[in-house]
Amino acid sequence: MQQPSHEEATAFWENEIQPHVSQLMTGKYSLRPVQERYTLNANRIVQRYSQSYLVQPYNTAIQLAGKQVEYNPIACKIENGKPLVAVFIQAFMAGMNKLRSLTQDPHLINATFEAVVVIGMMHEMEHLANGWIGADLDYEKMIEFERLAHGETCEHTLEHFATTRKPVLESQVKLYQKWVACGRSADHPEWIAEIRRMYRQA
Ligand SMILES: [Zn+2]
Repeated sequence: MQQPSHEEATAFWENEIQPHVSQLMTGKYSLRPVQERYTLNANRIVQRYSQSYLVQPYNTAIQLAGKQVEYNPIACKIENGKPLVAVFIQAFMAGMNKLRSLTQDPHLINATFEAVVVIGMMHEMEHLANGWIGADLDYEKMIEFERLAHGETCEHTLEHFATTRKPVLESQVKLYQKWVACGRSADHPEWIAEIRRMYRQA
């Protein structure tokens, strides 16, 4: 994808991403159980780090934990003790372009994109609230944190998108189905194998 201009990236952040983030942060997200989980985790984050987390939008790809994260739209980190959720606008723009190539239904595009933003935020909140985060994690530690965080995201977020039939990405439908098939256990060997496939080493 061609590098968006600063203005394009800023407009996309303001119009397409930030409104969904703000709904969660102000307690107004329409899916109530997801809102409740968000609020619980936001409070747990304050308890754990003695401060609220910040959302930081980035216009361009940055290096995070020594890795180029251009294609990973959202991540979290602790910087000088401060919990942060980093949002990579360019990667979200690429995701939106992909959605637009799959369907022309504007309602479906917007609802699915909303799900991408909300589920991404909720996943990072699970990492931060549970302390499943660290600098320079080795591969096995990273897999452990991801199998736990994805499990909690399936249980407390994707669950409610599924039961209310809200549109989500096909990859997230499959992950949720795998979670259910594994008895909702992050220790299930097939769940761990699925997470390893998601984070295959190059
Ligand atoms: Zn994760």
